[in-house]
This record gives sequence, C-alpha cells and structure tokens, in this order.
Amino acid sequence: MTQHVDVVVAGGGQAGLAAGYHLRRQGIDFTVLDAEPAPGGAWQHMWDSLRLFSPADHSSLPGRLMPAQPGEVYPAAGHVVDYLTDYEKRYDLPIQHGTRVDAVHRDADRLRVTTDSGTWRARAVISATGTWSRPFVPAAPGRGVFTGRQTHTVTYRSPADFAGQRVIVVGGGNSGAQIAADLTLDGHVDVTWVTRRPPRFLPDDIDGRALFDVATARRSALDAGRDDTGGVAALGDVVAVPPVRAARDAGLLNAKPMFSRLTAHGVQWADGSQSHADAVIWCTGFRPALAHLAPLTLRDPRGHIPTDGTRAVGEYRLHLLGYGDWTGPASATLIGVGRTAREATRQIAQLLGG
Ligand code: FAD
Repeated sequence: MTQHVDVVVAGGGQAGLAAGYHLRRQGIDFTVLDAEPAPGGAWQHMWDSLRLFSPADHSSLPGRLMPAQPGEVYPAAGHVVDYLTDYEKRYDLPIQHGTRVDAVHRDADRLRVTTDSGTWRARAVISATGTWSRPFVPAAPGRGVFTGRQTHTVTYRSPADFAGQRVIVVGGGNSGAQIAADLTLDGHVDVTWVTRRPPRFLPDDIDGRALFDVATARRSALDAGRDDTGGVAALGDVVAVPPVRAARDAGLLNAKPMFSRLTAHGVQWADGSQSHADAVIWCTGFRPALAHLAPLTLRDPRGHIPTDGTRAVGEYRLHLLGYGDWTGPASATLIGVGRTAREATRQIAQLLGG
C-alpha cells in the first residue's frame, strides 16, 4: 500500500526530531521513518563512560532545553536518550520506529520512498540518517592477517571487555582520545594509543560551547566573503573533557605515531620492531549513511551530496540534515541542528506553498 504525505523525514535521531519540530510549527503534514526500534538515534549505542562535550543547556534541540543531569556538568549518552525520548512525546511527533528507508526515487511529481514496511509518496524528503551506521576503518596493511580482535568505536562499551589485554587504540579525534582515556584510567588494560599525527588537545577552557561559537563565526565570515578563519579545525581536535584531562594529566595519554602494519599477533612499527596486541580498536570515524539516496545519483567523488545550505543541488525536493558541517555549520551537533532544520523547513514550506 502506498501512503501519501507532504514530507518524509528519513531518520529519527536528533536531526530528524529537530526537523519534526519545525515541520509541525509550519503546519506541514509529515512522517518520520526511523530504523531504530526505540527513540534516541545513535546515542543509544555509545559507550558507557561517554560524556557530551558541552553542558546540557548547550546541547538542546529547539523548543526545549535539555535538563541538567544531576551530579554531571557534561551529561552521559543515556541522559541524551532520555531527553530525545521525552522530546518525541512532548511534541507528539509522528515517528514510525523500526522502519528502514531503502530507497528514494524520482517519480513524475513526487519522491517515492520505499521502506521495509511500505511505500510513501512525498512532495519533499529530509534525509537525517546520520553516520553511526557507517563506521569507517582505513585500509591498513596487514588488517586481514591480524588474528586478534578488531572493533570500532561503534561496538566499544567499557574497559571490562578488555581486562588483562593489550589493546591498540587507533585515532587522534575525540573518540580515540576518550576511549584511550577510559581504558587507561581503568588500570586493567595495557593500552597503546596511536595517531596519524600528534594529537592536538584543545585548551582546557574550550568545550562544545566555544566550538559552536567558532563554527558560527566561520560561517558568517564565509557568507560575508571574508577570509576563512579555519573554524573549529584550526583550534585543535580533542576536547579535554574530564576523563581525557585526567588521563592526560596523569601522563597516561601519550600517543605514538601510527604503526606501519598489522602482523598476525600485533603490530610492526616504523623502525621494524614489533609489539603484541590482543585487540585493535579503530576510532577512525564514520561516513554519511546515504545509500538510500543512491537512485537519485547525486553524490560527488568524496561521497557527499553537494548542497546549497541544506538543499541538494541536484534535487530541489531533497534536504540533508546532520552528517557534518557540509550541511550547515554544526549541523551534526545537538545545539547546531535546530538552526539548519529551521532553514530546511522554511524552504520546504515555500516549495509546498508555491
Ligand atoms: P543519528 O543519531 O545517527 O540518528 C540517525 C537515525 O537515523 C538513527 O536512528 C538511525 O537508525 C536512522 N537511520 C539510519 N539510516 C536509516 C534509514 N535508511 N532509514 C531510516 N532510518 C535510518 N554532538 C554533540 O552535540 N555533543 C557531543 O558531545 C557529541 N559527542 C559525540 C560523540 C561521538 C562518539 C559521536 C560519534 C558523535 C558525537 N556528537 C556530539 C555528534 C552528533 O551529535 C551525534 O553523532 C548524533 O548522534 C547525530 O545525530 P543525527 O540525528 O544526525 O544521527
């Protein structure tokens, strides 16, 4: 059976919810289709000790401030799941959980959205499927011969899973630093942290609040034709959240340059020496989950879909939310996605009204 609706939102994490909030305010008829059986998007799957890099009141979606988590300045992932669950209910958003969008096709006058439980025809689509379902692992030499355990940020939960083991954590971003800190602070894991270039810690007084301001200032500079300030990347890569700071200050967070190859039982370093390892945790990032948009053939060679703001350059009825700064400054953050969602829905309201 085919259902008809003005807008389909693919993905019901924070980006899909922010879109829903603004669509509702615009009085637009919409449905959010989310593959997860329960609310919370990727936050449901993050590791036990993860803390947000901003306080609660700087991690809020439009309309409702995230309440503080008692006893924590930087909330845990579970607190975000509770907030998003409440947000869905509070605004009575029409979300169908447990529904995966398989493909979006162009029909004559509509976009056809096919899923594992039916087909929708819509006048516009907002894609907000995030990156969590597409973990990226680089093609390191010897990856296929290593007989130990290889995992990625997406499956890391806690140090208890690695007690007594020698573990190599790969990656110089926030996930790599936080997971290396989590493991070293535990004291029962022999951790080696490796990064492609020396890790760049942000100053201790800079957290997500300042990062958001910097991202916003950069966007304003670029929009006004002024010089690129370099944005957040110019400041550093790793936010010194409390566990990272504690591990760093205790001298436990010393990164080594990347190994040259994996061996059957460990790694080989650039000088030819070898180390034993039981496990490698790849904290090497994500790619945008855009496979459902393949029939529209919009991708550039980097795998992104070129956008003007949030709107796909090659398909005026498609908007992208979240994913990364390429869909708008800080669009892939809790505090930043609201602004890009508002702009996307404003343009969709114009399209539907026109
Ligand atoms: P997601 O949360 O991934 O939600 C996407 C939803 O779409 C999911 O429910 C998924 O199941 C669903 N979906 C995917 N494909 C389909 C499909 N084909 N059909 C239907 N549904 C689909 N941001 C902050 O603001 N503060 C932080 O402190 C912070 N820390 C982070 C730490 C880590 C380790 C990571 C990875 C990110 C962090 N972020 C942080 C960034 C960002 O806020 C999160 O990645 C957030 O989950 C992105 O929300 P989203 O809605 O774009 O994607």
